[in-house]
Amino acid sequence: MATAVPALSPELQSGLLIGPATVCTFGDRPRVLASAGIAVSEGVIAAVGPHAALRRRFPSFRRYDTSGPSVILPGLICAHHHFYSTFARGLGPIKRPKNFVDVLRYMWWRLDRNLTLDDVYYSAAIALIECVKSGTTTVIDHHASARAVRGSLRAVARAVSDVGLRANLCYEVSDRDGPKIAAEGIEENAGFLSDVSQATSDERRVRRMITGSFGLHASFTLSDETLRRVRRRLESLDAGVHIHVAEDLADRKDALKKYRMGVVERLEKTDLLCDKTILAHAIHITPAERKIAAKKKCMIAHNPTSNLNNAVGVADLAGMLRDGLLVGLGTDGMRSNMLDEAKFAPLAHRMNLRDPAAAFVESADLLVKGNPKIASRLFGYPVGVIEKGAAADLIRLEYCPPTPFTDETFYGHLLFGLANVRVRDTMAAGRFLMKNGRLTIGLREEAVAEASRRLARKFRKRFLSAARPA
Ligand SMILES: [Zn+2]
Repeated sequence: MATAVPALSPELQSGLLIGPATVCTFGDRPRVLASAGIAVSEGVIAAVGPHAALRRRFPSFRRYDTSGPSVILPGLICAHHHFYSTFARGLGPIKRPKNFVDVLRYMWWRLDRNLTLDDVYYSAAIALIECVKSGTTTVIDHHASARAVRGSLRAVARAVSDVGLRANLCYEVSDRDGPKIAAEGIEENAGFLSDVSQATSDERRVRRMITGSFGLHASFTLSDETLRRVRRRLESLDAGVHIHVAEDLADRKDALKKYRMGVVERLEKTDLLCDKTILAHAIHITPAERKIAAKKKCMIAHNPTSNLNNAVGVADLAGMLRDGLLVGLGTDGMRSNMLDEAKFAPLAHRMNLRDPAAAFVESADLLVKGNPKIASRLFGYPVGVIEKGAAADLIRLEYCPPTPFTDETFYGHLLFGLANVRVRDTMAAGRFLMKNGRLTIGLREEAVAEASRRLARKFRKRFLSAARPA
């Protein structure tokens, strides 16, 4: 697939020295480096350190002067997104939902059923542009468009490539629309994963911008037979499944009633858990199921504001971390701004636990430590950290810290300061996508939005007039 390995422009090969700035490295041992510089070459970070020293070390590199109140972070990562949710903006459920399954039936399933391939491209392009503007450079997306399955992942990939970001994509297989559409979903994932793996044999594998997972909706809309077929297809593919797990109690109750086991236990029984598996939500799982997921080295995508929005409960984040699970932060399509999501995450846990000290460090950790680990595992090279050899995905914010900004105070500045200022520059794979607040991508935002509105008008009519209540 040509979009997976973009050619480097001559300017990227020549090298760029960015700084001086306050650089926050993220990763397992996050550091705050004052007056630091970052040398970037061929889409990768060549060095990080004192700006003055890097100027001497890389005299031929072009300079990007960021003196002033600049703070540089790695490009942020969203561990669970739904680009197609863009077209929900301004729409509501067709009937008042009484519970989460009603929300799906009256809103989301009806929405995904009415998307065309053009809608898929434009809804993704809009969300991706919003990612650039809010500093999110890697997205793990979960796509559904039941009447436009074939070619939908290529449409999303084209939008990702046109905007210039990094993404892991999948199509959500479900039995809810009948066996034909479930089979199409399986083929869409398998075909796309096969395309992506061919791109990885390229000698420039390290710069692969698009990878895939095998998407599944949720246990309660998937039969054993469909899960077995997915398992068989995965045997020849290097991927894990990306699935909603016990987002609402209804998913767990369904699994208990039909299969006499919890959702994670069911996935284990079907041999669908591995170190590339992404379990989104995992709210209504038992401590025993947590241990199974940890043993299988699964990744969890925690989406606190979506969970508040749908009133489905709050995951036991402390329990997951205690059991050694790798947990990252996603938005579930609510937004593309990860600093915003991280800012609100502790509020969900504090209200839920009635504990004013809960989940502050843990929430920031998801963004700073968890998400980079998840993305690095899915892409096969370091992503989301500022260190030598990592992908040159960087964002710059203009922020004057009112109190000392050090390793010890970093999380306070991240969630109460940096989360409230605008991103000025966004770079992915060494390429500027936004500079000084102006987009520098190949697409024109207003033209994309106009095309999106035109499509969304037609989409809205289909959504509102669809004969079946879903
Ligand atoms: Zn989701």
